[in-house]
Amino acid sequence: MKADMKATLATMLFSLVASIAAQGPADHPAVTVDGQTYTPASILARNMGSAEDQETAFPPHKVIGNIYYVGTRTLSSFLIVTPQGNILIDTTYERNAGVIRKSVEQLGFKFSEIKILLGNHAHGDHQEGDALVKQMTGAQVMAMAEDVPALRAMKPGGKEHPIDKVLHDGDTVALGGATLVAHLTAGHTPGATTWTMKVSESGKSYDVVFFTSLRAGAVVTPAVAAAFDRSFAMVRSMPCDVPLGDHPAQYRMQEKYARLKTGAPNPFIDKAGCLTEARIQEAMYRAVVAEHGHP
Ligand SMILES: [Zn+2]
Repeated sequence: MKADMKATLATMLFSLVASIAAQGPADHPAVTVDGQTYTPASILARNMGSAEDQETAFPPHKVIGNIYYVGTRTLSSFLIVTPQGNILIDTTYERNAGVIRKSVEQLGFKFSEIKILLGNHAHGDHQEGDALVKQMTGAQVMAMAEDVPALRAMKPGGKEHPIDKVLHDGDTVALGGATLVAHLTAGHTPGATTWTMKVSESGKSYDVVFFTSLRAGAVVTPAVAAAFDRSFAMVRSMPCDVPLGDHPAQYRMQEKYARLKTGAPNPFIDKAGCLTEARIQEAMYRAVVAEHGHP
């Protein structure tokens, strides 16, 4: 083979490899739930939106009873208001601390009234701001034991991640008449936590479920599969009237918010929609396992 031909072949081979690499791993599997098709990339895009969506406040609003939404367009943050101080679930990214504070204040509450800080799972888009929010409020940070190592590794600006109390599956967190139950629903992270609480509105009691992410990664190890199997069974058995999620798209917040009207039924009461997100994620999880098998 002539040298120039070798060089041409080498160039062709290089560009072929480069073009495959540029495409990244293929976006599959695809699953269809309720007539809508989802891929790993489409779920991620739906959850996260743009950089601007992640950092822009969604209009803060009352969800039901003493629960308020104070997060951004795509990263949930919930405030539970009690006569003895408030509970915040999820600080999101550290850079959003000021955005969340403003939303809390817009609703007429003080940021310094936050006494307890909870999280749904140890990823930066949900809990990176814990250290800063604790500095700003003095709140007690409580975390599920299985997520503690990942939280400890989360050190924005070198700050240690504060953990004042370690929780275990089934533990309760109570303040001023509000009681939240921590359910270990692992899989997305080892300590992913679904929070449940009862609220009353207009003389009726409702079961609220703050779902954690049930999204499987590209590779599902046997240990992670065991965790997901248990978690999907658990969420199916939870009493639920009001499904919420760590990303607003998981419970169609924007659509429901648009339907909020004085005197009309509260659109966040959505018993029929309680398991919609879990069904999407379970279908995706089963498809990932079917495609790759258990390693
Ligand atoms: Zn996550």
